[in-house]
Amino acid sequence: MDYVSTRGMAPKAAAPQALLAGLAPDGGLYVPAEPLAPLAPGATFRDTLLATLGRFFGEFPQAALAQAVDAALARFDIPDALAFRDCGDAVFLELFHGPTQAFKDVALTLLPALLRQAADAQGRGPVCVLTATSGDTGSAAMAGFADVPGARLLALYPAAGISEIQRRQMVCQPGANVAAIGLRGNFDDAQRAVKAAFADPALRARAQAAGAHLTSANSINVGRLFPQVAYYLHAAGRLAVPFDVCVPTGNFGNILAAWYARLLGAPIRRLAVACNANRVVCDFVRTGRYDARRPFRVTNAPSMDILVSSNVERLLWLLTRGNDVEVRTWQSQLQAEGAFQIAGHPLHDLRADWAAAWATPDETERAIADVWERFGYLVDPHTAIAWKALRDLPPTGRPTLIAATASPWKFPRTVLRALTGQEPPEDDFEAMEALAAHTRLAPSLTHLRDAPILHPQAIDLPQAPAAILQALGL
Ligand SMILES: *Cc1c(COP(=O)(O)O)cnc(C)c1O
Repeated sequence: MDYVSTRGMAPKAAAPQALLAGLAPDGGLYVPAEPLAPLAPGATFRDTLLATLGRFFGEFPQAALAQAVDAALARFDIPDALAFRDCGDAVFLELFHGPTQAFKDVALTLLPALLRQAADAQGRGPVCVLTATSGDTGSAAMAGFADVPGARLLALYPAAGISEIQRRQMVCQPGANVAAIGLRGNFDDAQRAVKAAFADPALRARAQAAGAHLTSANSINVGRLFPQVAYYLHAAGRLAVPFDVCVPTGNFGNILAAWYARLLGAPIRRLAVACNANRVVCDFVRTGRYDARRPFRVTNAPSMDILVSSNVERLLWLLTRGNDVEVRTWQSQLQAEGAFQIAGHPLHDLRADWAAAWATPDETERAIADVWERFGYLVDPHTAIAWKALRDLPPTGRPTLIAATASPWKFPRTVLRALTGQEPPEDDFEAMEALAAHTRLAPSLTHLRDAPILHPQAIDLPQAPAAILQALGL
């Protein structure tokens, strides 16, 4: 598959180049250059995933893709990686059975093999990955890259706004080639530090001198986005009727994968964006105006605490049928003024296919309690936001697939408070024990409690450039 940049100022790139680059050289995001022919789901998720990778990364030998898929799926704790749970008009698609128990594992257990393949094909040396994380990306990336030969990874996480368990999943992650550093600030600060590093000629020169290839594992990378398409295709095969999706949304990667699944023929009708109190994307879908000029809120669904959702740029490109001039205009308005508007353009009526709703932290907790009381099913705060969003939207009569993006055991304090109405213990692991006693369910992730801390470093923004060089061994 060839890819072009959403901003139209970069040369076409084959999949291996797009994978290695992450961001296109003109600052845009890579999107498939050709229209997508239908892709039927296979009998198993494995088959569907392999077919999806064959479509988006067809330059790699099928045998290598099969090997990568089998190695990735072996790291999930249930056969064929996915589970479905029916609850009334919703079907929860559990995407959290991988090593760090969040949906990002699906792509991040595959990405190291894809990147290494791409680097080998071009005779490149070590792949150095630098990623900003709102919590779940960092841990999933570290787990995915740990001990992969010829790869190094640094996860930069915001010191404010991630849970103790998310933090421990990073700072306790073994693997001599992976590191995590806490940045005093929020996710947007971490993302800014990473963007600045990629734009820094000194860092690029050091990487070049070391024969290393510097890239990102953020959800802008084609290797993060397109594997996710497979689970929506697979769900289409299983549901076997037209359906809607409702996806807890942060950087807009997961729900965009659902849109690509639709372009590949999955009978997805309404796509509902579910946001937390940082509801920039929700307002955008409703009004056609993207406005990031608002206070950043730390919520109980921290992986969605984002004001600038990078993957929206791909949606803009798709909605305008590849009009990169318009995309460039909006992106420069966003950069300069913090806002842009697509309303009023005939091609851009988002409301035809898209819907959006959001939940406050209190509403999120009430949604956790609601699903538990009605179905005896425990959901994490991010997933609960999708449940709440679905309650707020007009019914369609179709089933709605809700992406269950994390295990509830990653956020035991919030879930416990939701169920009991009482202030939970300060300590995540005590809350986990109390939650297990309250629900009579078996907790997961308990091993983190006594795991040794291997990555204690915390820094301020000005220290980032030096810390990044050091952690990547450059
Ligand atoms: C990353 C994440 C999200 C947001 O997904 P995007 O693809 O960034 O929109 C939602 N829920 C959880 C648990 C996550 O880790």
